[in-house]
Amino acid sequence: MHGNTNTDGLVERFKERCDIDNNGCWIWKSIQNKSGTPLFSTSFHGVHFYISARRFCWEQILGNRLHRNLEIHVSCENNLCVNPNHLYERTDISRLEEHIIKNTDNSCWIWNGHIPERYGTLRFGGKNNVKVHRIVWELYKGEIPNNLQVLHMCDNPLCVNPDHLFLGTIKDNMLDMVRKDRCKLAKLKADDVREIRMSLSEGNPIREIAKKFNVSKSTIMDIKNERTWIGI
Ligand SMILES: [Zn+2]
Ligand SMILES: [Zn+2]
Repeated sequence: MHGNTNTDGLVERFKERCDIDNNGCWIWKSIQNKSGTPLFSTSFHGVHFYISARRFCWEQILGNRLHRNLEIHVSCENNLCVNPNHLYERTDISRLEEHIIKNTDNSCWIWNGHIPERYGTLRFGGKNNVKVHRIVWELYKGEIPNNLQVLHMCDNPLCVNPDHLFLGTIKDNMLDMVRKDRCKLAKLKADDVREIRMSLSEGNPIREIAKKFNVSKSTIMDIKNERTWIGI
């Protein structure tokens, strides 16, 4: 469709919907969706529909194809700009990395992107609101088995440092939350778990280890049998 007279007409109609500002931005003055994304109304074979103005610009004016898992963004960071020269493609992974504040030591990496509730989320792999700590686990550590969840050992739901995450069951997660609510002191830290594993490998009785760490024997058994704190 690109390059024929029909498209040229569309380009003209597109340009009519913009004001050009001092920075050269094409400021969209037509319809936007709820989150402020410019929308271009067009019709094809008599069917009327809206498409993202940036996508229209990318495909019809620049003649590019939009790649899978890539999104179009504006380099000028002007949310209403649709200038073809200000558009670029961004991968899901770069959108992820842009919102992670990493530290060189092994402290928490903090997510500063979208946080609808307890955890950060991101549109990723074509799905909306994917939990960021789960994405990070899959990128850095591997698959998440169906029966397991990605849990935080640092108690910081916004942390996405893969070394602060571990796989556990839903039960672990609930027990962990209950324990945190009930008694901050009873909670195990990653260092405790390492010490427990060391103690187990030295052949110390489970009963003694449980007593020392002020947890139940089943907690120690779960750690021993790799039902919890997997990978620690
Ligand atoms: Zn611009
Ligand atoms: Zn952390």
